[in-house]
Amino acid sequence: MFERVSLGGEGLSVLLGTKNGKYPSGNSVLVEDDLTLMVDPSTNVVAAGVDALGCRVDTVVNSHAHEDHFAGNFLFPEASLLLHEADAPAMVSLEALLAAYGTDWAKLMVEQFNYQPRSDVRAVTDGEVLDLGRHRVHFLHMPGHTAGHLCLRFEPEGVVFTGDLDLTRFGPYYGDANASLEDTIASLARLRELPDVRAFVSFHEAAIVREDLRGAVDRYAAVLEERDDALLAFCSEPRTLAEIADRCIVYRKRYESIPWQAGVEAVMMGRHAERLVRLGAMRSEGDRFVAV
Ligand SMILES: [Zn+2]
Repeated sequence: MFERVSLGGEGLSVLLGTKNGKYPSGNSVLVEDDLTLMVDPSTNVVAAGVDALGCRVDTVVNSHAHEDHFAGNFLFPEASLLLHEADAPAMVSLEALLAAYGTDWAKLMVEQFNYQPRSDVRAVTDGEVLDLGRHRVHFLHMPGHTAGHLCLRFEPEGVVFTGDLDLTRFGPYYGDANASLEDTIASLARLRELPDVRAFVSFHEAAIVREDLRGAVDRYAAVLEERDDALLAFCSEPRTLAEIADRCIVYRKRYESIPWQAGVEAVMMGRHAERLVRLGAMRSEGDRFVAV
């Protein structure tokens, strides 16, 4: 099930998932208006079933094409489906989705997260606005986590759904083939400066943030610097990417329950290493990186 939290009294609700949306759960958004909008129908929405919503859903938005965000899409086959144009192809074909991840997790996507290709995905771009009646939804392209990651701004409430710029202590994630550390940095800078925001809603754990919004973004972005600092300290002598991955800088310790951890550590910290080389703080020596 989910816990429904109303924001602003005009029909905007957060459907809080298990443990405030701890993965694989998440916090979905529902806007009940002349047109009813569902954002990122979670595994909790799947468990509760459509009758628990108490309304018909006209439009589904996926903030991006990740399994925990599209898990409930299949519940709404009649609704229109919107994604940013860079992530839209991943909901049209499983091959495109797997290419975006850079993995071969077809079975996981289909059997655990209910992936169903759709031929009618509508692609949106930065700055587009959807009018629901009393509400307007502004689509903000905030890439980095995926190439087409969206944040959504809801008016009149002044609430911004931050998706998987999730403001958690874990920090930003950019471990997929179509992810980018540089874009993540730029998107966080943009999120921080959005004017007149009254609350953030994140898909995981941070959930609803009503106070010190810029501080929440700053603390989240600071994890990037912590990863840089840890990498530079470890590379006081030359290190291979495999050695860097083994250091568990991203996850902070080794989790036997996460078989893809080493791969994610290598991809994400490789992106830090390449960025620090570009900035002149590291250099590469063959297959090793060393701080300068
Ligand atoms: Zn994601």
